[in-house]
Amino acid sequence: MPARPRAVLWFRRDLRLDDHPALAATHAHGDVVPLFVVDPAFAAAGLPRRGFMASALQALDERIGGALVYRHGDPVDVVPAFAAEVGADVVIVTRDHGPYGHRRDAAVAARLAVDGRKLRGVGSNYAVDPGTVHKADRSSYSVFTPFSKAWLATGQPRWAERPATPRPAHVTWVGHPDVACDGPPAVEPHEIQLPEATEAAAHRQWQTFLADGLDQYDAQRNQPGLPGTSRLSPYLRWGVLHPLQLIDDLGTERPHQVFRSELAWREFYADVLFRRPDTAWRNLQEKMDAMPVDTDARARRRFAAWAEGRTGVPIVDAGMRQLLATGWMHNRVRMITASYLVKDLHLPWQWGARHFMVHLVDGDLASNQHGWQWTAGTGTDAAPYFRVFNPYGQSEKFDPDGHYLRRWVPELAGLDDRTIHDPGLLRPDGYPAPIVDHAAEREEALRRYRSLGGAAR
Ligand SMILES: Cc1cc2nc3c(=O)[nH]c(=O)nc-3n(C[C@H](O)[C@H](O)[C@H](O)COP(=O)(O)OP(=O)(O)OC[C@H]3O[C@@H](n4cnc5c(N)ncnc54)[C@H](O)[C@@H]3O)c2cc1C
Repeated sequence: MPARPRAVLWFRRDLRLDDHPALAATHAHGDVVPLFVVDPAFAAAGLPRRGFMASALQALDERIGGALVYRHGDPVDVVPAFAAEVGADVVIVTRDHGPYGHRRDAAVAARLAVDGRKLRGVGSNYAVDPGTVHKADRSSYSVFTPFSKAWLATGQPRWAERPATPRPAHVTWVGHPDVACDGPPAVEPHEIQLPEATEAAAHRQWQTFLADGLDQYDAQRNQPGLPGTSRLSPYLRWGVLHPLQLIDDLGTERPHQVFRSELAWREFYADVLFRRPDTAWRNLQEKMDAMPVDTDARARRRFAAWAEGRTGVPIVDAGMRQLLATGWMHNRVRMITASYLVKDLHLPWQWGARHFMVHLVDGDLASNQHGWQWTAGTGTDAAPYFRVFNPYGQSEKFDPDGHYLRRWVPELAGLDDRTIHDPGLLRPDGYPAPIVDHAAEREEALRRYRSLGGAAR
């Protein structure tokens, strides 16, 4: 047995060293054995997300002098064997509330217990732990506004006590090269320009946004042609930043409140998915299961046109091309492209959600699936199915000078600010005609909705 107690700190969606409650707890226990398990399940994550994760791990490893131990395989086998190998009596983690992570951790805890070891969860990736905000009768919220009020009323969307995280140099890391290490996760070469995945870059970006962007956030956050949002989602996704680090800096001014409320949407969706893990791929509103969707060969052709950004609807194509090129898409355009897939093309929302999860660098099951379900009218909140986005109207309203369209659909760059949203007969050679007629498909969507009868109302 080692002279000092040791604990394994198993990193997952908490790839940072600052303000890290699980690191503080592990250090308090004794020497820290830092572990990351390269789980074969990651293969489904898509290149941008895996690429960002690999860079964030590399940055974290550099901060701890190369001590991070990588092991490959199913965590249910790898983690207990590793704890035994390094003589740790406990494995400490930031709790994971996603469906897969929650199941995996229960299985790892059971296996560790066989040898008398423990899995200890400390903190989470949220300001308020999913599953802890509830109504007076302890039932959960399925509508955002009351959830967000109750979320604020917990008084917890701030550090109760800022975690006394040790500086990396003050921790005794027991790891590579003394502990055998597999290689870091392999990532295929790619040309996607990913954000710099370091804690320093994340904090810089936040400070810049605080100084230059936040005051206009409520006015500009819906305009995809402006740098009006924080672009922090990949950092939050991987825990390079914790939401409380951001909330701590917010005041009571309106733009600050709006930003806090956007973070609350992230917490809301995590809460909904935690309580209803089946809604990762199934409708939250079961009454919408009967909605007719298209899945035939024509549907697949239409899906391909959507995914590749060649629907002939400029704002939809711009968004889909931004996604493929950068791994990110502006929130307003996520709503427009998602609505188009569901209500103009009549395809299952799950097809679009899967495509987003593969290509988004910030792909997060809770925010993505419930963002899709919200748009599709099958999920939370008062977003009735019959409210159909007009992609042309949205484009004129939120990208009035066509700046975003010109950036992502350069074929249209020569058109004037009015025509660019819906080029009609002025469509340049090489840019496709619309694959469907919006007005007709809107009617079709409403017809399908009505076919559900009273059940859907
Ligand atoms: C169909 C659809 C799919 C989506 N998929 C994802 C996803 O996979 N991962 C993801 O992080 N977000 C997703 N979102 C939410 C939102 O689009 C992104 O969080 C946002 O665009 C990220 O950019 P930002 O960091 O500049 O956001 P900002 O406007 O700066 O917001 C700050 C943070 O608040 C959170 N946030 C903001 N809006 C939302 C929202 N509507 N729902 C949940 N959290 C929000 C994010 O963590 C974001 O980083 C999706 C939205 C839709 C409509």
